[in-house]
Amino acid sequence: MNTLDIQAIQLLLATPKKIAIIPHRGPDGDAMGSTLALYHFLIKNNHHPTVISPNEFPDFLAWMPGSETVKLYEKDKENSTKILEEAELVFTLDFNALHRAGEMEQVLEKLTVPFIMIDHHQWPDDYATYTYSDVAYGSTCEMVYNFIDFLGKKQDLDKTIATCIYTGILTDSGSFRFPKTTGTTHRIIAELIDLGVENTLIPTLLFDNSSYNRLQLLGRALQNMKVMEDNKTSYTTLTQEELNSFNYVKGDTEGVVNYGLSIKGIVFTAIFIENKEEEIIKISFRSQGNFDVNQFARDHFNGGGHINAAGGKSETSMEETINKFESLVQKLKI
Ligand code: 5GP
Ligand code: MN
Repeated sequence: MNTLDIQAIQLLLATPKKIAIIPHRGPDGDAMGSTLALYHFLIKNNHHPTVISPNEFPDFLAWMPGSETVKLYEKDKENSTKILEEAELVFTLDFNALHRAGEMEQVLEKLTVPFIMIDHHQWPDDYATYTYSDVAYGSTCEMVYNFIDFLGKKQDLDKTIATCIYTGILTDSGSFRFPKTTGTTHRIIAELIDLGVENTLIPTLLFDNSSYNRLQLLGRALQNMKVMEDNKTSYTTLTQEELNSFNYVKGDTEGVVNYGLSIKGIVFTAIFIENKEEEIIKISFRSQGNFDVNQFARDHFNGGGHINAAGGKSETSMEETINKFESLVQKLKI
């Protein structure tokens, strides 16, 4: 962030304000971690923040400090809209375009108060008054740590804020292994642990809380996996019927896509998940190395994300979607 923006934000935050903090729809560990870290930081600085998530967050994040205060726009539009309309300042975290807030976009578009974006996705839109956007970072949480530092408020970091930041760095870095994990990331992690973060408990809370059904569903996804060896690509599918038969709950498919890359020699993978209610096939893409799945998702599946992790959707049937995907992959030179 440049010095002028920092000074302007310091001025905005100099007096107590009603502040709305928004993660993207379908919030993940980084979206929840960054919004809640900022929430606790702003409370400490005498503000009145509310985190308003476009929709519900997965159960494996429900232990996060402050998650019980999060408002869900799509569950309570009236109250959420009121909070948004009364806000004097809006933070949007972990997304780069207002449509990632889902239906809430319509309310956000009409607001005239300053917006601050903190995000690490490619090609940010220019809706925000102050934009702190940088693809060099592996997580928005690492950027929230920097943001607090820019404001000269590092002394405010405590176990609660640190726990939220730690969670987002951990989840968005694939447990500290994705390429944007730097020495600086690890130095920040060390500081967070020194502040009391329970660094062995948090991964247990996040990753060791599957239901039996979830594991069975994972088994089905692994069995459905197809390999296109000549194209170094794998993909799998889950139909609505399969989800129903394992009593799918939100969060159950989180991380399943990554298994496709664990096959030796595979550098591109995808998972196609049918959502009958929204009448779409939701797709997650992952790659290793130079193949840009953000570009692929944007070009062909109405989506986006990062070079090695992106998502998108298809409004045709599973069969048609898979046919389209296979023929695109066959044309790729991976
Ligand atoms: P996931 O596959 O875990 O849902 O998402 C991977 C990355 O792609 C995340 O950074 C996520 O924000 C982004 N992403 C997922 N779905 C979409 C989408 O439909 N549109 C865009 N623009 N980004 C997406
Ligand atoms: Mn993120």
